[in-house]
Amino acid sequence: MSTTERPRILVVGGGYVGLYAARRILKKMRYGEATVTVVDPRSYMTYQPFLPEAAAGSISPRHVVVPLRRVLPKAEVLTGRVTTIDQDRKVATIAPLVGEAYELPFDYLVIAMGAVSRTFPIPGLAEQGIGMKGIEEAIGLRNHVLEQLDKADSTTDEDVRRKALTFVFVGGGFAGAETIGEVEDMARDAAKYYTNVSREDMRFILVDAADKILPEVGPKLGQYGKEHLEGRGVEVYLSTSMDSCVDGHVVLKNGLEVDSNTIVWTAGVKPNPVLSRFGLPLGPRGHVDTQTTLQVQGTDYVWAAGDNAQVPDLVGRKAGNENAWCPPNAQHALRQARVLGDNVISGMRGFPQKEYSHANKGAVAGLGLHKGVAMIVMGKMKIKLKGRLAWYMHRGYHGLAMPTWNRKIRVFADWTLAMFLKREVVSLGAMETPREEFYEAAKPAPAPAAAKAEPSPAKTEEKAKAS
Ligand SMILES: Cc1cc2nc3c(=O)[nH]c(=O)nc-3n(C[C@H](O)[C@H](O)[C@H](O)COP(=O)(O)OP(=O)(O)OC[C@H]3O[C@@H](n4cnc5c(N)ncnc54)[C@H](O)[C@@H]3O)c2cc1C
Repeated sequence: MSTTERPRILVVGGGYVGLYAARRILKKMRYGEATVTVVDPRSYMTYQPFLPEAAAGSISPRHVVVPLRRVLPKAEVLTGRVTTIDQDRKVATIAPLVGEAYELPFDYLVIAMGAVSRTFPIPGLAEQGIGMKGIEEAIGLRNHVLEQLDKADSTTDEDVRRKALTFVFVGGGFAGAETIGEVEDMARDAAKYYTNVSREDMRFILVDAADKILPEVGPKLGQYGKEHLEGRGVEVYLSTSMDSCVDGHVVLKNGLEVDSNTIVWTAGVKPNPVLSRFGLPLGPRGHVDTQTTLQVQGTDYVWAAGDNAQVPDLVGRKAGNENAWCPPNAQHALRQARVLGDNVISGMRGFPQKEYSHANKGAVAGLGLHKGVAMIVMGKMKIKLKGRLAWYMHRGYHGLAMPTWNRKIRVFADWTLAMFLKREVVSLGAMETPREEFYEAAKPAPAPAAAKAEPSPAKTEEKAKAS
């Protein structure tokens, strides 16, 4: 980390907001005006809307992430976690990947730490659940699902087989509905190559505590999404929740019990709990409380945006809803980041702040190859699309929203190749323990006990002579 005479703008989190805000600040800044430092435990930004497609193998996982050091060459990028912030001393504590934690002074602060999975104390969930917030989880899920097909194909034990072929997804929002849609599609495709596994042998279950799925696209398209998934053999249980899943034995509130090796948890997000150690005003659900300018309430040097902030929704408020807040999605995160970047520059130079206002443009969701739903808002009109056309909208929108031309081109290239080549259905589960096989090979020679048990050939010869 550089020591600098220039003021430091510390950006906590290099996700959607962090990356775009830092780029904006660097673009607008005069040469040498400030040092921009971005801290994130990962060295890359993840485009989360593509995680379900990465889990299904439609996009290469590496193409869904953007290396921070490459896209922010003029920033100082630190790989580590901000653990506390002392607002009086204007100092943040950084826990790097290795070594001692250290303090980093700053003059201006941007809080962009996003959200974490919202979980409940359900017995077995911590041990059995898989989240869908990062690329590691998407790769893990893909390998895991394909491994279950391998297992089921090669066992004679009916219980093992049934457990392997039962897949439970909890949460039917964007993340859950898209992930089950994509993974079911992949498993259906993969089953063609297995002798003893067919799609009919598999059980896909989607559970949600609400009475609908995909609330982001409205009730009608949500209902369509549900019926579409059911038409593909997915069991959808609404207004129910998971009571426990100890050792993979899933018990739902509606009385259903199944055994499953795969429990995917996508039941919503909550602001990063670390925020409580930042000495900033928080809203009732733990978000950083911001003004319409994205400046944190009661401060003139801290800004926040994205999933970790509660930002007043000016459009909703103008329409009469006094308690309207911007929903946590990529659409807002991207636009807030731009306004935030401009406001940091204005704040540094003592100029007035701009207000953030954005009218919802709609939502798109992919449910597997050639399947999707889309709601496009144009003024007062809402255009609802489903099926192949909606899926093209989904791909077109997200393909273009993917940060950097490098990644856009790679993603479109993946899709184009997939039109001509068959989907990759190999499980690389051993990737999680890459050293295991080498360790076995390089292990020291067998212990003396083993040597005793098997007499050496020389001794056997001696004995034979004596008798
Ligand atoms: C599976 C999935 C599908 C989605 N699909 C859609 C969609 O179709 N459309 C849509 O609009 N939105 C979608 N979203 C939501 C969208 O991705 C988020 O709203 C958006 O990423 C929020 O941006 P952010 O910058 O606030 O948070 P993030 O992009 O999550 O970035 C937060 C960053 O902070 C870092 N961080 C965490 N803790 C610390 C720490 N202690 N110190 C430093 N850094 C830290 C993280 O590593 C991360 O890089 C989806 C989300 C998921 C999970």
